[in-house]
Amino acid sequence: MSTPPDLGHCVLCERQATARCSGCKRMRFCGPQCQKTVWAVHKALCSADPDVFRQAPLSQTELADFRECGNTPYPEPPGSVQDIMPFKDAFQKPGQAEGEGWEELLELLQAPIPSSGTPRDDEDDMDAAGLREDMLIMARIRLCILYDYGNSDLRYPPESLPWLEMAELLSSISACYQDASAETATGPEYPIATICHELNAFLREQLIVYRVHHELYKGKTAQDIGPWVPLIILARDRGLAEIDRAPLSSGRIRKDLRAMMEGKYDEMREFGVGPDGRMRPAVHP
Ligand SMILES: [Zn+2]
Ligand SMILES: [Zn+2]
Repeated sequence: MSTPPDLGHCVLCERQATARCSGCKRMRFCGPQCQKTVWAVHKALCSADPDVFRQAPLSQTELADFRECGNTPYPEPPGSVQDIMPFKDAFQKPGQAEGEGWEELLELLQAPIPSSGTPRDDEDDMDAAGLREDMLIMARIRLCILYDYGNSDLRYPPESLPWLEMAELLSSISACYQDASAETATGPEYPIATICHELNAFLREQLIVYRVHHELYKGKTAQDIGPWVPLIILARDRGLAEIDRAPLSSGRIRKDLRAMMEGKYDEMREFGVGPDGRMRPAVHP
């Protein structure tokens, strides 16, 4: 009789994994509950190249809200979406009137994640993938401004929240890279596609943190949210380990990323501590 292969730990909790995702055969779960929780964000990445982190396309709700951004000037700076540099540069073709690239931009924001098997060393492909990632970051940050400051009834779409947080994280990471490269006069350029490749494993762990985070905020009381905190701290720590393993060219980037992630969740620990003063086991409630 042969023993089943050791799958290691569940992607979400500390239990032994018993099954793999039937789509990608990579994500491992202890059972249907953890699989269901992670699936909300994993479904976008399931058929994607496992070596590169890519963002989910805008959902239909986000897209409709983003059209709102395009049509309505913000009550807060910076004016309207079309005023934002990267959109203009990328979608304004020579001879085109202002704002005519808008529909092409919306099309790109709905484009599915390129599936695995996409050539990675092809420069044009890197550029196209990088443009998609850049535009999604910009669009989602615009959406956050709309939801936070807009004078409409628009609310954060629940299933999009982890991706909105990812966009903000990617934007901060990109700033870390630019700071580090500015230290040397001839510092290398860091397109977002490179960042998404180097930090793939970390970003995937982080996406799980944001997904669990979203579950946590559904809870009303400390008792409700308590069971989720150890999962967040666990996923955060797994993310930190991935930062140490990432092929980063600068120790400064590693240090900045660690500081960013360590500060963010430490104050949460107290909610995850049981009556004996110790962290509860990180088991899916
Ligand atoms: Zn689990
Ligand atoms: Zn999968």
